[in-house]
Amino acid sequence: MTPIPITIVGSTGSIGRSTLAVVDRYADRLRVVGLAAHSNAKLLAEQVARYKPEIVGLSDKRGEAALREGVGDWSGPIVIGDAAMTEVASHPSAQTAVIAVVGFAGVRPTLAAIGAGHKIALANKETLVTAGEPVMAAARSKGVDIVPIDSEHSAVWQCLRAGRHEEVRRIILTASGGPFRQRPLATFDTITPDDALAHPTWKMGPRITIDSATMMNKGFEIIEAARLFGMGSDQIDVVIHPQSIVHSMVEFRDGSTMAQLGATDMTLPIAYALFAPERPPAADGMPLLDVTALSRLDFDAPDVERFPALGLARQALETGGTTPAVLNAADEMAVAAFLDGYLPFTGIPTMVSDALREHPVVSDPNVEDIEQADDWARTYVNRRLAETYTDSGASASTPGPSRAESQ
Ligand code: NDP
Ligand code: MG
Repeated sequence: MTPIPITIVGSTGSIGRSTLAVVDRYADRLRVVGLAAHSNAKLLAEQVARYKPEIVGLSDKRGEAALREGVGDWSGPIVIGDAAMTEVASHPSAQTAVIAVVGFAGVRPTLAAIGAGHKIALANKETLVTAGEPVMAAARSKGVDIVPIDSEHSAVWQCLRAGRHEEVRRIILTASGGPFRQRPLATFDTITPDDALAHPTWKMGPRITIDSATMMNKGFEIIEAARLFGMGSDQIDVVIHPQSIVHSMVEFRDGSTMAQLGATDMTLPIAYALFAPERPPAADGMPLLDVTALSRLDFDAPDVERFPALGLARQALETGGTTPAVLNAADEMAVAAFLDGYLPFTGIPTMVSDALREHPVVSDPNVEDIEQADDWARTYVNRRLAETYTDSGASASTPGPSRAESQ
């Protein structure tokens, strides 16, 4: 069988590296034709030397020399700067583009890969949160499949194969509840970045780990599910499931509920997205689930007072237009400020809520309107942080990351 040619943007991140682990396990079925990263030139160069793709991209120009030096005798084209991600994502030799960058930076490469007619294996949920409507419309008009890598959406995708769209009553997304599911609410103000970075079940990049601790991640996933599966907010529920074994469920109108179970290992949904709709036999190294080793599976309703981010995400989905883009950008900035010590943990949802309230919504936005809303939210959060920081008398300089640094 001819191997599937894939291109990976964000190959140096957690999902990118797991995707390459899947390539190693199915070496005769997958072939890497493109790799792109943002700043980690050293790791990217090692990946290039090993996988010998046809094209490589690095979006942060500062790593160019290190990349060129590190690729050894490989001599293919290297794209540096703004076009790196889009050119690699849309490389003509690829059939499937894995979008594994973090943040708003996922939108342009996703659209470029759709434009090239590639199937999309999508990890970057921010693309669907911020620009879900134009991205899904582009995919429909090109006849391109967007297969989610996010474990909950991969689960829903698989469960949906059991019935027709009109037979679905609701989607039930599971959530681990993060590290603070049982911590006394009164102590949330003293949560440190190290506390919040210690996720109980999944090992992921820093932003999604903090978003899991606030449950903003699950809020984004509600919006992601709405866009992917064409469902309203009232058809998407969330349950806390601390073991992270049931990855999500679909309830059909006859009262039957389908669930997808699997080990807590992202190589499973990545492999599913790469091969879908086929299910190849599990390669050596792929994790299998031993159900007899599970002592129990718990499910609870989420505490909305503890996790206000869930309500904010629903509000953004229901308001629509540019609001979800503001939800994402304000959250990204607030998370970075928390990690840098400028904002308490409880300040994250408060900052996002303030941004949603102040934002002048644009309905039915195109990608440029969404980019402007993203900029607006970043400027808003930076201004708020600067005001607070200056008021406290600590410093007059602007804290917090710029858009380029934080995406
Ligand atoms: P990481 O932080 O581990 O990796 C992020 C990747 O994006 C790196 O390759 C990084 O490049 C690149 N990157 C960073 N900034 C930019 C930028 N401004 N422009 C372009 N690329 C950039 O993140 P994860 O792998 O954890 O997450 C990736 C995406 O997948 C996110 O959208 C996340 O929500 C989603 N996801 C992740 C899961 C997980 O288990 N990790 C589960 C479900 C979804 P470099 O390192 O070279 O700077
Ligand atoms: Mg998820």
